[in-house]
Amino acid sequence: MIKTGRIIKKIYKASGISKAMEQQQCIFCGIASGQIPSKKIYEDDRVIAVLDIYPANPAHLLVLTKKHYAIFNQIPKDEVAHLAQICRRISELLFKVVKPEGINFFIANGPVAGQKAPHMILHAIPRFAGDGLNLEIPENPGDEKEIEAFHSSLKKTLKDYFPNVDFSEAEPKEEKKEEKEEEEKQEKEKKQEEKEKEEEINLDELTEKLL
Ligand code: ZN
Repeated sequence: MIKTGRIIKKIYKASGISKAMEQQQCIFCGIASGQIPSKKIYEDDRVIAVLDIYPANPAHLLVLTKKHYAIFNQIPKDEVAHLAQICRRISELLFKVVKPEGINFFIANGPVAGQKAPHMILHAIPRFAGDGLNLEIPENPGDEKEIEAFHSSLKKTLKDYFPNVDFSEAEPKEEKKEEKEEEEKQEKEKKQEEKEKEEEINLDELTEKLL
């Protein structure tokens, strides 16, 4: 497994910035301090949001912490919570002002995920049907066995990481039973509807005959 430190090293290498020079050379620290001009959308003591100058579309925003953190894992919990709240507010703003059909919020966490500079950034990209931006996740169903194997391999780690989460699984048999019951119920309702329809028709015929 790749350690966080190695990912951070790779980001610095990809961006051409040495770790020793990081904050002096970090363009986003410059934006946060106001030394580098930007089109500001939001600012408080911890977070700033600006328009991206290499945008997917003109309303593409970057939301970032003012403090220099290379990747998501390094941001303290309270700052993450604050960042999330600002993103929610920005989502409201974009829907109201830009009127997109959707918004992608994403973090490029590591160079392979598209991170270009060693300062963690959250992208907010308003989306429109047919805008040609390809952020699609494949729609093909995955290999069930592969997914199951991955989940099983995680179990011990998950219990250590999230001790308060109940990872016991519902018996698949019970699920099937519920499904079957639901199917039977729907079948019954369908039959009942058909019967009622038939009776209606019969009643119509009878009325016709009587008249
Ligand atoms: Zn920075």
